[in-house]
Amino acid sequence: MERKLLTKDSYKLLISKIISGKYQLVAPVKVDALVDFRRIKSADEITEDYIVTVSSAKSVAFPRNEKLFGFEKNNKKLEQTDFDFDSIPHTVLLGVRPCDAMGFASLTSIFCWDSVDKIYTTRLERTIIIGMSCAKADASCFCTSVKGNPGNTAGNDLLLTKTPDGDYITEIVTEKGAKLVAEFYELFREDKGAEKEPLLANVPEVFELDGILAKINSKFDDEVFWSEQAMRCLGCGACAYVCPTCACFDIQDESHGKTGQRVRCWDSCGLSLFTLHTSGHNPRQNQGQRWRQRLMHKFSYMPDRLNTVGCVGCGRCSRACPVDMNIAEHLKSIIDN
Ligand code: SF4
Ligand code: SF4
Repeated sequence: MERKLLTKDSYKLLISKIISGKYQLVAPVKVDALVDFRRIKSADEITEDYIVTVSSAKSVAFPRNEKLFGFEKNNKKLEQTDFDFDSIPHTVLLGVRPCDAMGFASLTSIFCWDSVDKIYTTRLERTIIIGMSCAKADASCFCTSVKGNPGNTAGNDLLLTKTPDGDYITEIVTEKGAKLVAEFYELFREDKGAEKEPLLANVPEVFELDGILAKINSKFDDEVFWSEQAMRCLGCGACAYVCPTCACFDIQDESHGKTGQRVRCWDSCGLSLFTLHTSGHNPRQNQGQRWRQRLMHKFSYMPDRLNTVGCVGCGRCSRACPVDMNIAEHLKSIIDN
């Protein structure tokens, strides 16, 4: 893979040039005591002091809520205003961790499964992902257990790895990444050949993925197992909202007088209303069944149907959970029981 070097001064210049050009730049910033992705206007807003951001970067391609089309009733006629593809911005997404970058492959497999979701694919096509390797990790990280690693290039267009001098080894992963480097060629130097591996965090493997994939289906009917795992789950949905690979959504029509819009918004299979029928029947009646769905979808249905695991081991769900549910521990217990 071709490599270049971006010095620390050139890095700041690159950010300034991106902001003043045709792209919007989304990057990690401090939001009170937390770090999350925001659109930025100056290089000084960016922070590198994070293991992962609170939310994943998925909203760039799959926003929390978005208008799919508008409608207006005129007498007895209904007029529709189609989705405006020109409104999708060209975006550079900076500081994405390798686990999050891998998450886009999971999302793409879902949004292009039986038919192609053109809104999602156009958003992603107009996004250039500049990842940042992980120099540190915490106890919630488990990317190496799901075939990732702290310096994984997959899913990135460019991957930066910070050297002890403060410069960035720049791996050019895709054509899109190469075009961005060509656009700002004067900022990139010849690579000095520094070793990348010693600069990466140590993320120990906490479970054997093949063992989980082989055993999870046999646990499906074990109601006690799932209800014990989910005993303290509040069904708040936080785990799904922060997850880079969760893609559940709801479609709603909102109208005011004669005008309205159809909106798509994030949802979660962990919420009790998600499967509630209008008859009042709910095929997933308790939290154990909902938790089972979450794990089965990621570790059985997605591998079977889409040939991908629906988890990249970012650990966000465990960090965000108000009652300390730990997905890696729960996955481990599938092998242990
Ligand atoms: S399930 Fe949890 S650990 Fe896995 S990708 Fe989603 S937030 Fe990250
Ligand atoms: S964040 Fe925790 S409590 Fe909330 S739905 Fe997820 S597992 Fe349950």
